This record gives sequence, C-alpha cells and structure tokens, in this order.
Amino acid sequence: MACGGSPLHLWLKDFMVRSILHIDMDAFFVSVEEVRDPSLKGKPVIVGGDPDGGRGVVAAASYEARKYGIHSAQPITRAKRLCPHAIFLRGTQGLYSKFSARIFDILDRYSPLVEPMSLDEGYVDLTGCERLHGPTIETAVRIHNEIKTKVGINASIGMATNKLMAKIASGMAKPNGLLRILPGHEAAFLAPLPIGRIPGIGPKSVEEFKRMGIRTVRDLAALPLELLEEVHGEWGHRLYEKARGISRSPVMKRDDTRSISRETTLDKDSNDAAFVESTLSWLVEKAASQLREEGIRARCISLKLRDSNFKTVTRSHTLTEATCEDHVIFDTVAGLFRKLFTRGTRVRLVGVALTSLTSGVPPQMELFENLDAKQRQKLYQGIDRIRDKYGFRSILRGSSVID
Ligand SMILES: [Mg+2]
Repeated sequence: MACGGSPLHLWLKDFMVRSILHIDMDAFFVSVEEVRDPSLKGKPVIVGGDPDGGRGVVAAASYEARKYGIHSAQPITRAKRLCPHAIFLRGTQGLYSKFSARIFDILDRYSPLVEPMSLDEGYVDLTGCERLHGPTIETAVRIHNEIKTKVGINASIGMATNKLMAKIASGMAKPNGLLRILPGHEAAFLAPLPIGRIPGIGPKSVEEFKRMGIRTVRDLAALPLELLEEVHGEWGHRLYEKARGISRSPVMKRDDTRSISRETTLDKDSNDAAFVESTLSWLVEKAASQLREEGIRARCISLKLRDSNFKTVTRSHTLTEATCEDHVIFDTVAGLFRKLFTRGTRVRLVGVALTSLTSGVPPQMELFENLDAKQRQKLYQGIDRIRDKYGFRSILRGSSVID
C-alpha cells in the first residue's frame, strides 16, 4: 500500500490534522436481503426474531418499516403490533458476513488503516493519503459509489478529524448521505446537538442530565472538568473532552495476527490445580494491564498448557464482546483450564494469549447505572497507576499470591 507505513510517516502523522472516515451501512441486514430479493425494495421489511414466537428483537428494519416507529433492538412482538403487514425475515446465516467481507475489501484498497467495528461499520484513516487518492471528500464519494455499484447497498459516511466526530457525522448523514465536519469546527458543530448524539450517552443518562437542566452539548460543555470528574471519575474526564469534540483514539488496523501473551515455566512441574490457576491469574493480570495501557480490548482468549512430557496444548474461546477486564479474561482462561486439566496432568508451562484486538468504543456505559462496571474500571485504572509507580508485584489479586 502506498500510503502510511514508514516510521517517519507514522511520526509525522502525530503532527498532522487527521482525516478519518466512519462508514456505516444503512439498515444493513435488510439491504442485503433486498439485494438477494429485489421485490422487497420499498416495502416495510424487518429482520429479527420470530414475530409470533414472543421472543427476540428487531435486528434491522427498512426505512419504510421505521415510519411505523420500528427500530433496532425493539422486541419483535412490538414491531409486529406496530406494523402487522410488514415482511418479517429471520435472517440468512453466512450471507451478511460475505457481504461484509466484500465491503471491507473495498475499504482496504483506500487505506492500510481500516478498523472494522462490526459487520457493517468501520473507520478508515485517510491521513496522508491525499497525494494518492485525491481530496478526502472525493475519496469518500468514490467509496460510497463503489459500495453501491459493487455490493448494491447504501452507506452513510462521516468525515472528520477524529473517530468521535466521524461517527457522529455518519449518524447525521443517514440515510445514504455524506457529511464532513471541517477541522477546527468540532466544538461549534456539537454545541447545539442534543447530548444523546454523543456515543456512550444512552437514553437513561439523557433523562438524568435533563433533570439537571442539561440538554444540549453546549450545556454539557459548560460544566467544569472538576465537577464532571468528581461525579463520574475517569468517564467524567472523557465527557469533558467529548463535549468539545476531542478524541485521540487511533484507527487501529485490523490485525488478526497481533496478540498480547504472557507465559511462564513453573519452578517445578505441578499437578496442583489451584496453584496453576493462581499462576494463570497472575499472567492474566499482566496481559490485561497491557490491554488497558494501550487502550485496546481482546475478544479471543487462549490458554497454553505444556505438560512434563513437553506435550503442548492450546485452547481458545471467543467472547461475544471484547474486554480488557481481568475477571472476564480470568474466568474464560480458568474455564478452558478446568476442561483440560486432569489429575494425572503435571503442568510444566502455562500461558495466556489475547487476540482479535480492537480499540473499539466500549459497550455503551450508562452513567447512573452499571456502577459496578464503572467502579471496576476505576479500580483497574487505579491499580494500573499504582503498578506503574511501584512495580507490577505490588498489587496482585488474592488468588495470585503464590509465594
Ligand atoms: Mg449500520
């Protein structure tokens, strides 16, 4: 690929205004179904659970269906009540990922830095690609048209100097639109918008803020940093930056081969499951703190086990959502270990590997709910800080203390 790559180039990138696209397919599952069966076009179509089975949600709704108040994640039975004559489809396994691969094949040709966020959504970093591809807007138009002609579906594209603003822009460009937020205009663009436009501020938080008289991003931006931090900790700091359109998160190359791993050979071969698990816990903590340091999360967790006969076995588990939390990773690793370990096993070496790494936005955090997750995050950050200062061994989980 001609743009990006060399260390000098990467170094220069730090000083350049970035040029980021967020590309998001419109009603993806439905659009794919329409390509397969063009007679569906222009009709209210809903892909999701069984409308008569009483379970499941709407995975995607066509824009015609949305006119009836139908939207993603709504219970499918409610969708049926709102629009009984809609065409309900259960979805076609394997089809959506094939379409997704074709879309990302297109994106990969425009930049070496493409970060998929889901099957139908991703970021493309075009910084420094102007000489090769021309102005960003022209490139975005070309990408948009290429997806339409080669794959047959509509995309919306946001263009901005960072991922946060590009995502907001693509949301506002829907359906089938392009929107660019000019460099330097981020805060002014956000100011009049309702705070719910900011990714990570969910409907419950919107309600809670409303009770405090905060409706627009301008209202939010008027709150002092100290207050936000006092109430929301680290998340308060991020809110302060988001309200100003600031986001430094890099577009991370899709790289299935990259991994973070830790392994250790035991001082003596061991058949003590509890001892091996506590060693694993220690390795997990080391690997997870590296994830948090780099601001990334892992979806695939692997365990490596070598026995006294030097026979090595690895087992992996893929989580539904990427994580950087010790306890989630440890529970997974411990589960894999318990399946492999038998009384006769004498363990020589254990290892933990984290792959399918992503810098994606964490699952939506409600400010006034899920305090557990928030508190945990705060706790982990505190732990990482102490470790930075005093060295890794200064804090270990109880079960990690093996000596
Ligand atoms: Mg989409």
